[in-house]
Amino acid sequence: MTITQTPDPAGLDALRQRYRLERERRVRPDGARQYRSADAEFGYYADDPYAGEAAEREPVRNTVDVAVVGGGFGGILAGARMRQRGVGRVRIVEKGGDFGGTWYWNRYPGIHCDVESHVYLPMLDETGYVPEWKYAPGEEIRRHAMRIARKYDLYPDALFSTAVTSLTWDEASERWLVATDRGDTFHATYVVTSTGTLSDPKLPGIPGIESFRGHTFHTSRWDYAYTGGTPDGGLTGLSGKRVGIVGTGATGVQAIPVLAEDAQHVYVFQRTPSSVDVRANRRTGAEDVGADHVGWARERRENFLRIVSGEPAGHDLVADGWTASAALLEKLLPSFRRDEKGAAFEAAYEAADAAKMNELRARVEQTVTDPGTAAKLKPWYRYACKRPTFSDTYYAAFNRDNVSLVDTADTHGIERITEHGAVVGENTYELDCLIFATGFSVGVSGIHSGKLPVHGRGGTQLLHAWAERGPRTLHGFTGNGFPNLIHMGTLHNASSVNFTHVLDEQAVHAAALVAAAESGHALIEPSPEAEDAWLAVLAEDAADHEWFHAECTPGYYNREGLGRPNSASAYPHGSFAFHELLKRWRSESIAEALRPRTALRSSG
Ligand code: NDP
Repeated sequence: MTITQTPDPAGLDALRQRYRLERERRVRPDGARQYRSADAEFGYYADDPYAGEAAEREPVRNTVDVAVVGGGFGGILAGARMRQRGVGRVRIVEKGGDFGGTWYWNRYPGIHCDVESHVYLPMLDETGYVPEWKYAPGEEIRRHAMRIARKYDLYPDALFSTAVTSLTWDEASERWLVATDRGDTFHATYVVTSTGTLSDPKLPGIPGIESFRGHTFHTSRWDYAYTGGTPDGGLTGLSGKRVGIVGTGATGVQAIPVLAEDAQHVYVFQRTPSSVDVRANRRTGAEDVGADHVGWARERRENFLRIVSGEPAGHDLVADGWTASAALLEKLLPSFRRDEKGAAFEAAYEAADAAKMNELRARVEQTVTDPGTAAKLKPWYRYACKRPTFSDTYYAAFNRDNVSLVDTADTHGIERITEHGAVVGENTYELDCLIFATGFSVGVSGIHSGKLPVHGRGGTQLLHAWAERGPRTLHGFTGNGFPNLIHMGTLHNASSVNFTHVLDEQAVHAAALVAAAESGHALIEPSPEAEDAWLAVLAEDAADHEWFHAECTPGYYNREGLGRPNSASAYPHGSFAFHELLKRWRSESIAEALRPRTALRSSG
C-alpha cells in the first residue's frame, strides 16, 4: 500500500465537506425499506438454479446428537469440530442442494475470494490441501467446503434442499424438536444455527420491476442456462444482447469485466462507486506459502488476523492489500483496538484515511480514459464506510466501447423499470437482460427472519423475547431459556474480513460447549446474571464505532445511512482479542454456561 499524499488541514476540511455532500445526496428516508425480499411474487429470484428438482424422499424421524441449521462453512466447521470431539450423529440441514453456503449460491462470472485463499480456506492443515491461487476462484472454494464435509463424514446424515421451519424445546426429553419444509420432524440433543449473515438475496424496490419482459436474475442465482459459459467466462448466450447490471459492490466489481467480454452492450447502473484497489492475483505453490509443515495454515491465518486486528505480529506473511501496512490499517479500520483514543489519534486516523482514498481516486484517473466516466467512478467516503474491493480489470472495462456507466446517484437508483428496460432521468435504456447485483438482506436470515420460529422453555419465542428486552446472550452463542441452542454469527460476537476464521473459532467453541455438557451430564444454558455481565462488556465501548458509521455514505454497514440498529451488537475490541477471551473462558469458566439436566437420557 503506497501512500501518495497526506492532505493538509485545508485539504482535509474540503474533503470532509465533499464527503458530507455526497452522503446527503445518497441518504433516502426509506432506508432499508427501499428493498424487497426475493420471496412471494419475487420468489423465483431465490430459486435454486443448480440443484434441479429436489428428489422425493421419506421424511426423517430419527434422533441425532447435534442438528446444524445451515451447510455453509459455519455449519460444516461446526460438524467437523464436533466430530473431532467424538460426537456421533451430526445432521446438517441445508436449503441448497449441497454444502458450500455462500459459495454454493454465488457462482457469478469472475467470482473469486478477495481474502488470500491460504488464510480464507479453513482446515488446510487437516485436509492437506494447498490452494492453487493467491485469491481462489469460487469453484475451488466450494470444492474445498465439500472436501471438509467428506473428510468428517457429514454427507450421510445431511438433508439438502431442505429448510428448517421450527425449533421447539421439548422439556420432557430435554431435546429440541426440529421440523422442516420436507415433512421431517426429529429430535436433537443440541442445535447449532449457522444461517449466514448475507444469505437472503434482496432486490431494489424500483417501481415497475415486476413488469420487465426481458430475462432477469440475481447474481447469487446466476442463470448459465441463459448466459452460457461458466464462472471463468465464455458467456456466449449474451452475444447480441443488451445487458443491464444494477449494483457495483464486491459482486458487481468482479462480474462486470467478464460480462463485458461477451455481451453486445453492458449498462452498469451505479449508485455509489466502490473503492477498487490492486488485485495482483497469481498462481501459488506450496513453497510460496510455507506449506512444508503441519500447522503452516494455522500460523498464517493467525498472523493475518493479528495484523488486521492491529495486534503486533512480528512479520507479515500474507503481504497484500489488507495487510501491507499494519500501521495504516490500524488507522483505517474501525474494528481496530482503539486503546489510544483522543484528538491526536483521530487526526492521524483521518489523515491516513484521506491519503488512502486519494490514492484510490488517483487509480481511477490513471486507468479510465474518459474523464467524465472517471469522475463518476471515484468514491467519496472514508475507506471503511463500504466493503473495500480489489480488481485489476474493473476500471479498464469502462474503456471498452460496449460498456456504459449510468450514474444513478441523483435519482437514488433507477427510477422506473418498464417492459423493455430501465429509466434514469431523461433516458430509457432498452435491455434484453437485467441482472441484480444488489446484495443481501442483512441480519434477517435464519432465526432472525421470523421464518424459523424458535420456542424455548415454556414456549417462549426467541424473537419475541429479544424484541421485548433486546437480544440476550452469553458471548453471542447461548441464552437463558434456550438450553442446548448455540448460535454462530456476528451478534454479540466478533467479526473480521477473514470471516471463515471467525466461524472456525466459533465452531471450536460450540464443540467445546457440547463436550463439556456431555461430560458433565449438563445442559448448556447460561444464567441471566452471566448474560447481564456479557451485555455490560458489549456496552462498554459500543459508542466507539457509532460516530464513524453515522457519518458514512449509506450502505448495509450503517443501515442505509440511518445509523446502527443496536449499539451493543458486537464485541468492541476485535476478533483477535475476542478469540483470546473465549480461550481463557473455556479453560477457566466454562461451567458458567452449564446447568444440571433433569431428564434421563434415552436413545432413539
Ligand atoms: P452490496 O450490498 O455490497 O452491493 C449492492 C450494490 O447494489 C451496491 O452497489 C448498491 O448501491 C447497489 N444498489 C442497490 N439498490 C440499488 C438501486 N436501487 N439502484 C442502483 N444500485 C443499487 O452487495 P454485493 O453482492 O456486491 O456484496 C455483498 C457482500 O458480499 C460484500 O460486501 C462482501 O462482504 C461479500 N462479497 C465478498 C466477495 C469476496 O470475494 N469475498 C465477493 C462478493 C461479495 P449503494 O452502494 O448505493 O447502496
